[in-house]
Amino acid sequence: MMPKSDIKDMSQDQLAAWLEKRGIASYRAPQILKWIYLRQADEFEGMTDLSKEIRTLLDSQFSINRLEKNRVEKSRDGSKKYLFRLPDGNVIENVLIPERDHYTLCISSQVGCALGCRFCLTGRGGLSRNLTSGEIISQVRDIQKDLDEPKSLTNIVLMGMGEPLANYENVVKAIHTLTDTTLGLGFSNRKVTLSTSGLVDRLPDLGRDTTVSLAISLNATDNKIRDWLMPINKKYPIETLLEACRRYPLKPHRRITFEYILLKGVNDSAKDARQLAKLLRSTRAKINLIPFNPFENSEFQRPDESVINRFQQILLSNNYTAIIRRSKGQDISAACGQLKGHHRQAH
Ligand code: SAH
Ligand code: SF4
Repeated sequence: MMPKSDIKDMSQDQLAAWLEKRGIASYRAPQILKWIYLRQADEFEGMTDLSKEIRTLLDSQFSINRLEKNRVEKSRDGSKKYLFRLPDGNVIENVLIPERDHYTLCISSQVGCALGCRFCLTGRGGLSRNLTSGEIISQVRDIQKDLDEPKSLTNIVLMGMGEPLANYENVVKAIHTLTDTTLGLGFSNRKVTLSTSGLVDRLPDLGRDTTVSLAISLNATDNKIRDWLMPINKKYPIETLLEACRRYPLKPHRRITFEYILLKGVNDSAKDARQLAKLLRSTRAKINLIPFNPFENSEFQRPDESVINRFQQILLSNNYTAIIRRSKGQDISAACGQLKGHHRQAH
């Protein structure tokens, strides 16, 4: 028997078309998806406002998958790392971060990553595979179910494992479901942030297909250093990337977040800070400074506090919004760049 496919891999339109082809009215699609996303249904059987025939048909074709929870680790600072095992044995990691009045969830778009940035543990193991849109959505849906107050999860960042724009179709499909207000997930586009290392060719598509917040991992102000840190820079150097950012369609009052990882002695000088201020001058930018999060055998170090603060001060005095993102969850290797994935769980 063919394994059933996860209904969460279908957009509302795709499901509506599928139903119509079988003589079922398309308004059934949002009805079904509401059961799944708003009411967290695990089977079609209980969808009482559908006829028995429709429920049986759906059940014969589709499953409503849950991710298999492998382990949850709790950090001293309150953040939680979830490890999920996928049916093919791959493991993906999610980080749930408590903020003052809400949670932010960091989700993954791929198992591993092909782009091999030097400072990133995810990049070390290469790419295993893309996640399906159902798997991307499940990270949110399953963790939401785990919360005492599901509604308090309001912010999503695509900053976990993988390069979201390298898995474009599935990521955008997942974003559409996550931000769909009729289905019960209804995340605000502003509060969903996609972080990319800068796949320039895809930026116009993203700007056309979504209105989520955009974050760019810039990480250096000089092409030589960026080439060395992030091999993707050889394809899309800094000027090309920033030009694409200036063209990116932004709604009024929205800005692009530029992420800048601070590596001791590599990109943390006062000159770098001034150069960064100069580079971003004609871009609607805000800046997130991320002091390097170390991992085993990493060749970099985090700069001293005074250097981090000096870097920020220079940006502030150039009238930028610049925050230092002190990553949570370091004690459980849940901070930015510390997600490894693909190891198999032994116990
Ligand atoms: N591939 C995407 C999204 C995942 S990485 C991207 O590169 O943007 C998310 C963020 O974590 C990026 O800004 C990246 O620069 C940062 N990062 C990676 N490794 C890190 C580390 N060891 N310490 C701190 N930040 C890191
Ligand atoms: Fe991939 Fe992003 Fe890590 Fe670079 S920083 S290797 S693009 S996940």
